[in-house]
Amino acid sequence: MSIDIEDRRGELLAMRDRVLRAAQDIVEDDKDDGELSSAAGDQHLADHASEMFDREVDESLGENADQLVRDIDAALARLDEGTYGTCTRCGQPIPEERLDAVPYAVLCVSCKRDEERR
Ligand SMILES: [Zn+2]
Repeated sequence: MSIDIEDRRGELLAMRDRVLRAAQDIVEDDKDDGELSSAAGDQHLADHASEMFDREVDESLGENADQLVRDIDAALARLDEGTYGTCTRCGQPIPEERLDAVPYAVLCVSCKRDEERR
């Protein structure tokens, strides 16, 4: 196996964490619906830390945060299953360069392109 599972897992978990934090900021901006079940509570210390990351991911994140977290969760589940790194559509291995860029990718490049065309 060419993929270091534990590395990927750590990477995905860290990414999930950052997305959730950034998404929380966005949600708080949009509506005052404090329905998040996390222990974050009224801890606003993260505001500064997430500010930089927000700027970094804002474009790609936006309202896709939910989807992104779902993708990351799916990737983590696939790590457990041992199907990580395989395209869910055509079953071909996803190139490692792609996984480096998009660790939660579930589609190979051509399937992804195919899907975006719709
Ligand atoms: Zn594919």
